[in-house]
Parts: sequence; structure tokens; C-alpha cells
Amino acid sequence: MTTTMNLDSANSSNSNLDGNVFYEMLIHSRQIVQGQYELHKDDALNANRENSERAGMATHMADIGSENNRQELELQLLSEEGDILRLIDEAIERLEDDCYGECLDCGDQIGEARLMVKPYAMYCVKCKGIREANDGENPFV
Ligand SMILES: [Zn+2]
Repeated sequence: MTTTMNLDSANSSNSNLDGNVFYEMLIHSRQIVQGQYELHKDDALNANRENSERAGMATHMADIGSENNRQELELQLLSEEGDILRLIDEAIERLEDDCYGECLDCGDQIGEARLMVKPYAMYCVKCKGIREANDGENPFV
């Protein structure tokens, strides 16, 4: 497999992408994720407060356990949403830099169908698969 980038084909296939459509999608996704992020942030803070109140009253350990789990879940969601927000911002930057839709690993065009589902995708399906099989790394780049 050659990793030489074919600039001509990358450029011509990129011109098929309507940047405005993806820009709208990214802005829209950003609003949704930002909303969820705020929601979960509040939930995580509330769960934390409820926890310390309950712990102080030394009530059912089982209840405290499930509250801890809930908070863990909220925090996990929170960090995932934070990650997605960062990815969305980076995708918007790539749109502005005119290199949106190119796989960051191989430079190939990321499929439009994939971008429609995940407009902040950084890698083509092939490179994503390679990374998933190698603990998030791509040994070929
Ligand atoms: Zn790729």
C-alpha cells in the first residue's frame, strides 16, 4: 500500500462537497451537544450534592451506590460531549481552512455518507478501522 497522497483526486472529490451544508450541520450539532453538555454538567453537580447530603445522613448504602453510578455516568457523558464539542470546533476550522472532509491519516476523501452521519469525523472508514484495531493509533502514518 502506498501512502503517497494524490492531491489532484483529493481536490476534485472535495469540490463535490457542499461546505455550507456541513457548516450548518456542524453548527447545529454544536448547539445540541452544548445543550446536553450543560444539562449533564448540572446533573453531575446535583448528584454530587445529593450524595454528600445522603452520606451525611448515613442512609441506605445501596442508594448511595446507585447515586455514585449515576454521577459517574453523568461525568462520562460530560467528557464525551466535551470531546465531541472539541471535534466539532476542529471540523469547523478545517472547513474554514478548505480541507474539510479529508482523512487526517491518509488524506483521502471521507465518504459523504459518513460525514452526513458524523460531520466531525476525522478519519475515513479504513483509517478509523486501523486505529480501532491499534488502540487508537495508526502505525501506517
Ligand atoms: Zn484515511
